[in-house]
Amino acid sequence: MGDQRFDVAIIGGGYSGLWAAYYLKTQAPDCSVCILEAEHCGFGASGRNGGWMMSALQGEQRFHRAPGGVDGAAVRHHVLGILPEVERVLAAEGLACDYVRGGGLFAAARYPEQLDWQRAHLATLHALGYGEEDYHWLDGAGLAARLAIARPLGAIYTPHVARIQPARLALGLAATAARLGVRIFEQTPVIADSGGTLTTPGGSVTAPVRVLAVEGFNSRFADYRRRVLPVQSRIIATEPLSAGQWQEIGLSGAEVFADASPVITYGQRSADDRLVFGARGAYRFGGLPRSRFDGDPGAFHQVRALLLACLPQLQDVAITHAWGGTLGIPRSGSPHAVLDPVTGFASLGGYTGEGVGAANLMARSLVDLILERDTGLSSMPWCQRLPMRKALRRWEPEPLRWLGFRAISSILGWQEAACAAGAAPWKRRLLGLTGNRRSIPGDRD
Ligand SMILES: Cc1cc2nc3c(=O)[nH]c(=O)nc-3n(C[C@H](O)[C@H](O)[C@H](O)COP(=O)(O)OP(=O)(O)OC[C@H]3O[C@@H](n4cnc5c(N)ncnc54)[C@H](O)[C@@H]3O)c2cc1C
Repeated sequence: MGDQRFDVAIIGGGYSGLWAAYYLKTQAPDCSVCILEAEHCGFGASGRNGGWMMSALQGEQRFHRAPGGVDGAAVRHHVLGILPEVERVLAAEGLACDYVRGGGLFAAARYPEQLDWQRAHLATLHALGYGEEDYHWLDGAGLAARLAIARPLGAIYTPHVARIQPARLALGLAATAARLGVRIFEQTPVIADSGGTLTTPGGSVTAPVRVLAVEGFNSRFADYRRRVLPVQSRIIATEPLSAGQWQEIGLSGAEVFADASPVITYGQRSADDRLVFGARGAYRFGGLPRSRFDGDPGAFHQVRALLLACLPQLQDVAITHAWGGTLGIPRSGSPHAVLDPVTGFASLGGYTGEGVGAANLMARSLVDLILERDTGLSSMPWCQRLPMRKALRRWEPEPLRWLGFRAISSILGWQEAACAAGAAPWKRRLLGLTGNRRSIPGDRD
């Protein structure tokens, strides 16, 4: 590649980097933009996730409590605008990614505590100002009518979730960005960043604005490494199911679903009629990302066991695919779009495993910061014009990070096992004191 100059250089070709490049090029066509991607576009979480695209932000509650007060209606407006904006771009650019906005079911389906957790989540969402039309309660019969889940106790339903094929979106965005004039350098890892120049093994790029969009792949970036914790999540996919099997299971509207488990589950009916199901939770000492998961069959057995606990009718169905990936959990608990106006160093991410939709909003926000546009986004509480070290909190040093993660995931595992096995009420209550609740939009506090 030699030594090159661009107005904006983006590190990472996942949704964050690709959306940022797309909006830079569509809003400022004269701006020269490149993406430097270590592997290939979509190699990270963006090409291998569970395909839930949500008009939601993890940790949204924190934004409503931002110092100096915040316009809650504006926050909700921008958050709920994610899917409509993505739909606009998909149509305008002719991007196909099996997108169906079938909504999401956050079910209580295996033990009674899940019912309390989900009801508490719904109350939290309504307290943030979301209405019944955004999130409403389905009783057991209402849930069963949509999904034949093991014990349909009840569920939150939201229309603000779409099902996608994740890799198709990443590849389509990359092709669109390239067509608009973004230079994409694949197999080009950034190995150093100094004085406005990014160094790669085959040359360098100098740019007044450099954007870090690597989410959980941050071990190479000293300043960012401790601000987002790389955590692994694993997914399995069944063989394609017959029309008769789907008639029994449901999801006829392509709804995505999760059950209120402390281990964070997520499922979808894919466009080719597979049941795709995942569960979160592993951390490598030192915060190393992980992209290969062969040789780890035990972890996939756990995911399958959770799937069968939800949908026992899949007992004899073959699992044909199993994979995993690395997501990022920020110390602050909520995503960010940050630009240091002095050095020109920027970053976006921190999605806590919910970046498929959120990356679009953070990219638009960051582009407004870079182009100094005022569309209302740059004054949102996730935007900061600060050096990263001031904008983003750091996780504890090792071994505290590793020990803390192990301790919390063990407690959540015990809690899950005790509740699922119907342990004595005092034991369930005791483990429930960890305060864990199922991840749904806006809830993480
Ligand atoms: C298994 C799994 C399931 C998930 N399911 C969902 C879901 O259903 N819904 C949802 O909302 N979210 C989900 N997520 C999270 C979501 O996929 C991510 O939040 C989102 O894709 C992050 O996009 P990104 O572009 O910020 O990061 P990534 O997609 O991880 O992209 C980072 C890119 O940076 C590149 N890179 C790394 N280091 C360098 C370097 N030194 N130089 C150049 N390039 C570099 C990587 O190769 C990678 O391509 C899931 C994540 C995983 C792992």
